[in-house]
Amino acid sequence: VELIENEIMEKQINMTWNDIAGLEFAKKTINEVIIWPMLRPDIFKGIRAPPRGILFFGPPGTGKTLLGKAIAAQSKSTFISISSSTLTSKWVGEGEKMVRTMFAIAAIHQPCVIFIDEIDSLLCARNENDMESSRRIKTEFLVQLDGANTFAGENSRILIIGATNRPDDLDEAVKRRMQKRLYIPLPNSAGRKQFIQRMVERESHGDEGHQINLDDKSIQELVEMTKGYSGADLKTLSQEAAMVPLRQIDDIANVDILNIRPVTLEDFKEALKNVKATVKQGDLNYF
Ligand code: ATP
Repeated sequence: VELIENEIMEKQINMTWNDIAGLEFAKKTINEVIIWPMLRPDIFKGIRAPPRGILFFGPPGTGKTLLGKAIAAQSKSTFISISSSTLTSKWVGEGEKMVRTMFAIAAIHQPCVIFIDEIDSLLCARNENDMESSRRIKTEFLVQLDGANTFAGENSRILIIGATNRPDDLDEAVKRRMQKRLYIPLPNSAGRKQFIQRMVERESHGDEGHQINLDDKSIQELVEMTKGYSGADLKTLSQEAAMVPLRQIDDIANVDILNIRPVTLEDFKEALKNVKATVKQGDLNYF
């Protein structure tokens, strides 16, 4: 219990939709099917009863975890986040117990969002090579999922969010229980523009040494050069670009912070040579 409370539970998250660039369709859908019902369970019952589980699927690094956090923040819920690899590796042999404990804690801390990253690797279609331990985790998970839904009935305020890059690999029984699916795509040009604009705004209030100097025209150029880049790629790219001015300084240990020049479009171009889009066009055919 302590492990869960210390490591994977966050009671208060300061995040808003504005911290997530683009994804307008996802945000709108999430608002209607998740946030409103969590805020007004009295209205969302019967025919308006919300889904108990939702599946975010799409390429990696597109903001699925961020969305999970934003949901918890907006609905003033406790956020429990766990990745399948944690369940299966860190607590070897204890996974089943972990799942049970996690749901018990969630029940105490309602409303609560349980976010399960890489849910496909935990709850993939059963196969004969499954280790006994992973089979047991799977079964326990399904039992708990049904329990969370039926125990408290319509009053249950536990939401399960699964994130996956491989929705088709999921176990049939899990698919049935998580019928609401939401595709989280790579950012389109509007999304990339928002990402870059917000970053520029953020940095202009930060340390003098971290300013980014991009005017509207440069931002547009950068947007066009980063087609196919995920949010996570854009972040890596920006970190790389921000290093370029530093590399031109002889004595970084003694440099006056005011003498560090702002990051420019040229620096981003330099960074583009090394930081490529991680999601390949071919990978997208999968979705
Ligand atoms: P994975 O499938 O690999 O778990 P994910 O879809 O859950 O990835 P996140 O962990 O949410 O992706 O995103 C990784 C990082 O990339 C975030 O911490 C954030 O910095 C950045 N990022 C990704 N998408 C966005 C976005 N739409 N807006 C702002 N930042 C983003």
